[in-house]
Amino acid sequence: MKAKLVASYAYRSLRYTPNHPLRIPRVSLLLDFLKAMELLEEEEVVESRNASWEELRLFHTEDYLMALKRADEEGRVSREIRERYNLGTMENPLSPAMWKGSVLATGSSVQAVQLFLEGKLAFNPAGGMHHAYPDKAHGFCFINDPAIAIKYLMERGSKAILYIDLDAHHCDGVQDGFYQEDRVFTFSIHQSPEYAFPFNRGFLEERGEGRGKGFNLNLPLPKGVNDREFLYVLEKGLEMVLDVFKPEVYVLQLGTDGLKEDYLSKFELSNWGLLMAFRLVREALGEGIYLGGGGYHPLALARAWALVWCELSNRQIPEQINSEGRKVLSEVNFEEFEEEDRSYMFERLLDRPREGEVRTEVKKLCERAKALLYS
Ligand code: ZN
Repeated sequence: MKAKLVASYAYRSLRYTPNHPLRIPRVSLLLDFLKAMELLEEEEVVESRNASWEELRLFHTEDYLMALKRADEEGRVSREIRERYNLGTMENPLSPAMWKGSVLATGSSVQAVQLFLEGKLAFNPAGGMHHAYPDKAHGFCFINDPAIAIKYLMERGSKAILYIDLDAHHCDGVQDGFYQEDRVFTFSIHQSPEYAFPFNRGFLEERGEGRGKGFNLNLPLPKGVNDREFLYVLEKGLEMVLDVFKPEVYVLQLGTDGLKEDYLSKFELSNWGLLMAFRLVREALGEGIYLGGGGYHPLALARAWALVWCELSNRQIPEQINSEGRKVLSEVNFEEFEEEDRSYMFERLLDRPREGEVRTEVKKLCERAKALLYS
């Protein structure tokens, strides 16, 4: 199968506000880095397109979309609109990313689904904005492109869709959007809401309310999760899911904020761990539709998604980062928040595994999940 990267340099000018965690370059950096590393051919890139109004309406309310569009046109929101739609806040600021960036990222997720349905493999690194609700912005997300990708699949007759979310944060917008839907199973591994955003969602006990009660699996984890724990939980989780649900198709969200370098999460994964997770999902389920997600350390993100792309396009992973690649990474304007030696990020593409023990509480969580899911 041919692999395609759905991407665009248009994102370069569609950034969040200068003080926002998402002010960083992501898709454009990935493109630059892959090209510098000679890991991407021009014909492998599918230029991103905007989502149509009809596609946006698959998940979002008309009035919310109108409010977003108007806020973009006017460059301001009233207090009423701010409160009603959670727009123009520190969390979800007005910026070119809000409407134009979100519409492009969402069109790209629909493109990824279309490519998949044509028998190709597609990765949309701009996608995976899993927090947005039908009628409000939430957690840096304005348009919920994974939910729209799932709706698009349903419209085309898919009756059993599995959504897997590897982002460090729970996929509340997607979960709640399909909570009563028998055709969709949502499975998420994330930091426990006891200490991490979104705080009110992502508990083990949230199981879904469709006829097929139990079509939702949350595995909320403690701080400091290492590669071994993450892979343990993913493997157990997939086993449980596949015992009760037979997916025709799946959508995978590949947020990179679980990486140790990422300052917005307390997980300690290496990009090796994330790569192994990607492999594990594909080994268990075959091919799916691949989306990006959170990720606030631009260099960690570009390195991790470069690995995903190598895997998807069947390329051998280069050991070293070449001088061109190093140049691209070192030109990123990003200030580290932690005083740690991060020089390895410029030398090797693949991190050394961050292994460790699987803690008892992690094992117990899987046992509790199993008991709940089969009860
Ligand atoms: Zn996240």
